[in-house]
Amino acid sequence: MEFWQELFARRAERVKASDIREAFKLAERGDIISFAGGFPSPETFPSQEVADVAAYVARAEAASGLQYGPTEGLYALREMIAARLCAQGIACTPEETLITNGSQQALDLIGKVFANPGDGVVVEQPAYIGGLSAFDHYEVDFVGVPMDDDGMRVELLTERLRARQASEAGGRVKLCYTVPNFQNPSGVTLSEERREALVRLAETEEFCIVEDNPYGELRFEGTPKAHIKTYDSLGRVLYLGSFSKVFLPGFRLGYVVGPLPAIQKLAIAKQGADLCTNSFGQRVILECARRGLLEVNLGRAIDVYRAKRDLMLEALGECFPKEIHWTYPEGGFFVWVTLPEGMDAKKLLPDAVREERVAYVSGGACFRDGTGANTIRLAYSQASDDDILEGIQRLGRFLASRL
Ligand code: PMP
Repeated sequence: MEFWQELFARRAERVKASDIREAFKLAERGDIISFAGGFPSPETFPSQEVADVAAYVARAEAASGLQYGPTEGLYALREMIAARLCAQGIACTPEETLITNGSQQALDLIGKVFANPGDGVVVEQPAYIGGLSAFDHYEVDFVGVPMDDDGMRVELLTERLRARQASEAGGRVKLCYTVPNFQNPSGVTLSEERREALVRLAETEEFCIVEDNPYGELRFEGTPKAHIKTYDSLGRVLYLGSFSKVFLPGFRLGYVVGPLPAIQKLAIAKQGADLCTNSFGQRVILECARRGLLEVNLGRAIDVYRAKRDLMLEALGECFPKEIHWTYPEGGFFVWVTLPEGMDAKKLLPDAVREERVAYVSGGACFRDGTGANTIRLAYSQASDDDILEGIQRLGRFLASRL
């Protein structure tokens, strides 16, 4: 054992198994109702349509669909993505679009290409744990910014940047990582005023914004907010998208869109990582898009998740003690729960599993400033309707017993 410990690079040493992965393991036990995993619901997968299209691709497009492809991704898919983003107000070309192995790979490549050890990365508090762990491997120094119901409190960011400069800690702040819509883990959405303010700050302070938007299209109500990148006239934003939550995650298809010099460098890094993204999946998605299946499926998925969200919010209102608060997500997969100060969600989790056979993600791991011990992430995306009602009742009973 010691042999391996000594062999690990410093960057690997720093990174520990995440609480979320640990929670997944718990949740795999059959008798437990789990709100831990933020997986999409298999109900939303268009299995018959994908079977038909996959058979078509394997027969009619084998020469490209079963072959290696360009590192940047299939040009036709890059064209399709760029056209869709242009229609949403993001001016971009296929050349400025890189297909990645899920948006998770884009996060890793961004860390690889931009971060020196000690460089500053601004993150929301709480932040997406997979983003933290991707950047962790590049030994970055996180600069946390608190959130409220309108997302990251951008007005506090200047002060944080000044404090960091004054302390002479680490390297330059290069990146600001944000999940602006129905954030994982909090479910909240960044206001339009703050989106614009963040871009102006990126321009004056000379950092790059990483806008990670896997959930944005899963909006149940209200008007969509303009993407951060629509305010980006100087080219300071890398926009990340994914087919995982709006279509299916099994093909591992995501993308990053940004200025050419950044995209070209990311493509070189990708060459070292995996040469190219899943050609078969790209062909299938492209053909699904041509047949209009993406839109149809998105509509279905929104209906499924809206119903689950409504059910969970209703159950929370009925079953949770009044000392406990939670967010109201207008889309996406997650509700964020805040317990009274002093309660420790991580310590309570094994008891919740043992006594009530219900699991959640304790929120503390989403913070890098030692706060957040009294927070919980609940995913309504995957649980059945019956499990949502029963599980929230059990969790409410358990938490009430610990108040
Ligand atoms: N970003 C966020 C905020 C996520 O929640 C996830 C998946 N949980 C990802 C990125 C990665 O998604 P994928 O690699 O499947 O595109």
